[in-house]
Amino acid sequence: MFGRAPKKSDNSRYYEILGVSKSASQDDLKKAYKKAAIKNHPDKGGDPEKFKELAQAYEVLSDPEKREIYDQYGEDALKEGMGGGGGGHDPFDIFSSFFGGGGNPFGGGSSRGRRQRRGEDVVHPLKVSLEDLYSGTSKKLSLSRNVICSKCSGKGSKSGASMKCAGCQGTGMKVSIRHLGPSMIQQMQHACNECKGTGETINDRDRCPQCKGEKVVQEKKVLEVIVEKGMQNGQKITFPGEADEAPDTVTGDIVFVLQQKEHPKFKRKAEDLIVEHTLSLTDALCGFQFVLAHLDGRQLLIKSNPGEVIKPDSFKAINDEGMPLYQRPFMKGKLYIHFNVEFPESLSLDQVKALEAVLPPKPSSQLTDMELDECEETTLNDVNMEEESRRKQQQAQQEAYDEDDDMPGGAQRVQCAQQ
Ligand SMILES: [Zn+2]
Ligand SMILES: [Zn+2]
Repeated sequence: MFGRAPKKSDNSRYYEILGVSKSASQDDLKKAYKKAAIKNHPDKGGDPEKFKELAQAYEVLSDPEKREIYDQYGEDALKEGMGGGGGGHDPFDIFSSFFGGGGNPFGGGSSRGRRQRRGEDVVHPLKVSLEDLYSGTSKKLSLSRNVICSKCSGKGSKSGASMKCAGCQGTGMKVSIRHLGPSMIQQMQHACNECKGTGETINDRDRCPQCKGEKVVQEKKVLEVIVEKGMQNGQKITFPGEADEAPDTVTGDIVFVLQQKEHPKFKRKAEDLIVEHTLSLTDALCGFQFVLAHLDGRQLLIKSNPGEVIKPDSFKAINDEGMPLYQRPFMKGKLYIHFNVEFPESLSLDQVKALEAVLPPKPSSQLTDMELDECEETTLNDVNMEEESRRKQQQAQQEAYDEDDDMPGGAQRVQCAQQ
């Protein structure tokens, strides 16, 4: 339980932990513990294990009875004396009882120093546009949260005093007994309803007028969320210690999770952007140019190279016009353009002739009359392939079902034949 196995009849380790001699007075011990515990408090970035050891050493040596046992027989003797539970007191309790509960050794209005529980983090989704993520932005959000009452410093009372709850004798828990049978009882433990599990109550006349004894008050707070260039959908922006405050609790964080809204024109893929663009057949064959408004409002002129033909379902890329990289915004991904080509529904005979005159010769015109004579004529029908395959699937299902239906009769016939 002490992390390190104590040496045989070790009765000097606690003195070493606190850095005092074996003849140290109670005053020496106090000073040594206070200095070391503040220095090693986990809230100040100290090692929690070391903090625990300090509390254990101080707990034993500051108690004359325990100190005597320790000096004579070492740690093991104390462990046995503490009973099966291990006797481990919360090091934070020892720390806060040392500072009298009220005093905050770290100063300031917050009572962070003597807290042990951790409050819950509060998570908010934050909708952002692709433009926001491209150019970066800041959003001011007003939130309401609980803060420790400044009037009573979270005590809930004017005098700073609180009384032990009469309903639970200060334990915060109540035990109820249920009789399940003649010699069977069930013990159930639940939080005390009179003190909401805190173990203390405040005299009505002593209640803090500001928080009415609740120890916390509501406060409106405006947080400015900085959305940086290139942040991703799902990325978290954390405000440490800005969630609800509560006495004896390490305040949790407020966490914003970015949710990128769909953009009507641009799709994002990591650091790249994709835009769909439809060309007419003439554009695709004879060249094109068009203007694309970028996410920051710049107008990009996009044009084909002379003589270049754009095929349907093909891509082109423009370098450095994609998304900026997070924390390296001077670097950008690519902007891909996905081309669709719209073909005319039909052509007039004149258009066909004119096109034939300029396009490369047709392979089909090379068939000889002799070859054609040997062929059978066919007709090309319009077809919707998706619908065709759906119909085929339904047909197959129906057939499988019909076969299942035949099975019992078939089995019956086989049986009859055996008799
Ligand atoms: Zn109670
Ligand atoms: Zn108050």
